Amino acid sequence: MSQTEKYEFKAEIRQLLDIVINSLYTDKEIFIRELVSNASDALEKLRFKKASGESIHDPELELKVVVEVDKEQKTISFADTGIGMNREEIITNLGTIAHSGSKNFLSQLADGQKPDASLIGQFGVGFYSAFMVADRVEVSSRSYREGEPGVLWTSDGSGAYEVSTQEGLVRGTKIVLHLKEEHTEFAEDYRVDSILKKHSSFVPFPVYRGDKKINEVQALWVRSKNEITEEDYEKFFQHLHGFGKPRYRLHFSADAPLMIHSILFVPESNMEKMGLSRQESQVNLYCKRVLIEPNSKKLLPEYLRFLTGVVDSEDLPLNISRESMQDSALLAKINKVVTSKLLKFLNDEASKDPEKYQNFFGEFGRYIREGIVQDYTHRESLAKLLRYESSALDAGVTTSLEDYITRMKSDQTEIYYLNGPDRQTIEKSPYFEAFQKKGLEVLFFTDPTDEFVMDHLTEFKEKKMVSAEKADISLDEESGTGLTKDQVKGFVKWLKEVLGDQVGEVRASTRLVGSPCLLANKDGMTSGMRQFMKAVKSSMPGGGMGETSDLEINPAHEIIVKLDSMRSRDNSTATLVAHQILENAKAAAGLIEDPRTMVERLNQLVSALLNSSKS
Ligand code: ADP
Ligand code: MG
Repeated sequence: MSQTEKYEFKAEIRQLLDIVINSLYTDKEIFIRELVSNASDALEKLRFKKASGESIHDPELELKVVVEVDKEQKTISFADTGIGMNREEIITNLGTIAHSGSKNFLSQLADGQKPDASLIGQFGVGFYSAFMVADRVEVSSRSYREGEPGVLWTSDGSGAYEVSTQEGLVRGTKIVLHLKEEHTEFAEDYRVDSILKKHSSFVPFPVYRGDKKINEVQALWVRSKNEITEEDYEKFFQHLHGFGKPRYRLHFSADAPLMIHSILFVPESNMEKMGLSRQESQVNLYCKRVLIEPNSKKLLPEYLRFLTGVVDSEDLPLNISRESMQDSALLAKINKVVTSKLLKFLNDEASKDPEKYQNFFGEFGRYIREGIVQDYTHRESLAKLLRYESSALDAGVTTSLEDYITRMKSDQTEIYYLNGPDRQTIEKSPYFEAFQKKGLEVLFFTDPTDEFVMDHLTEFKEKKMVSAEKADISLDEESGTGLTKDQVKGFVKWLKEVLGDQVGEVRASTRLVGSPCLLANKDGMTSGMRQFMKAVKSSMPGGGMGETSDLEINPAHEIIVKLDSMRSRDNSTATLVAHQILENAKAAAGLIEDPRTMVERLNQLVSALLNSSKS
């Protein structure tokens, strides 16, 4: 197959190219970073093949990237001695979108969002950036495998590309860009040198421009901390993450139980929160500076997938295959060491600068919650990282569970929380009243998953986590006023008869202060869970079955006292009122089933009221 063959780009690539060429970059120089980074990836892959003992074509070639410019010809080229590509590979890799990154990018476009140019590297559509500045791109490549012929790929980026066989190539890939008239600046050596210095100083292989070496090849993570500047770290972060500045950074080395060098970054923003699809870890696994697995999946627990960085362990066997790597017990050990280290680091940062930490928690808190549900081993360390608003603190200020404990009353044994859509709603909840009266601190849960998380946490430092809706607390002092014991007996009996199956038991409560009554949870579910169950059930056939709760009434409350006397005078209005206060209690618990029946009843009540004021 030495003849030239012509192929059409897939529709999605054409779409991508169109955006890249016509509307994407203001920052055209980025193509240099993308092509050098592809060269570096190819070299990393080769180094890995070599280390794991595969036989390699041209084994003596130095691993490097060479960038060359030609002012006369208006070209810039990138040559590497990496893994190379054969014919099929070049067609697949450069002619179809197989990478999840590019798919994400395209689906974002499909949603009509304007793509963020600086993200293109992230999305893995890097190669096509060449067409921003070139009207013709030639890629010649020779695979690392023995006996493979070389291949030449060319395209003007419009709709098609050509592939032919090429003799006499050495291992690796060379990409030649024929620059557009308006972009000949990229054939100027000083211009290219400065771009290379800016974007490619962390490439872990020597990068030459001509025969001049541009970068210093030394893995940052094995260098001693006091030699590294803040700017070095930032550049390294950008090298890995593509853009932005890190929020937190942890650089550590350990020699027991394992030899580990690591730099981990927490980025500024949570990509999943921004509406992008599930993120993949950006932490790369190295052994003695050889990349073993980029974006390693098993290296850290899934809930730490928001991190970017490097873990290098000298204890990993180099010749291990990536597949068996996945099950390695060693990897599990590294995972445990690094995770513990990171969680402790976050905890330390939280005490150093609580405000900065609170901000982190607002952005990344969902991963911490996810961790508590998933990871039994680190549950306690993760629970330390939780932050909540609380009845003891001003709005906007958060507390840790540890700090809550320091404020607990001497006889208090449980940590109380209450969930709701926001702070104001929770503060008005009848379940909150008794706690407020007794001066017991309640944590305010406003994330819908918080209660679910508590089901997994169950306790912290031997203090049970208890929903204020379920807590068994009572107000000791008798209020003096209100119904007598006998009156309560009669009233409770009457109310149960009136409400029938809509409630379980009706009884006098000791915990209500400002509300006439509340729903009690005999089945142990909080209102949040009940709402959840309701939603699940109503979506099932035959769903929506009535859950019956007990009703606790407040014998000291004015409404109850007056209702008791009304029932002997005007039983029909009293019955309406009884139904309405049950409805009110349901509303307080967020459980209104059908507001229409309530509107009807309210109208009846209003007319009863109008009639009585007339007489
Ligand atoms: P990404 O680098 O995110 O995979 P790119 O668009 O930058 O996406 O590159 C597409 C693919 O083309 C790469 O995954 C790789 O398989 C192949 N490729 C690009 N440049 C080279 C190169 N210099 N050597 C070998 N393969 C390459
Ligand atoms: Mg790339």
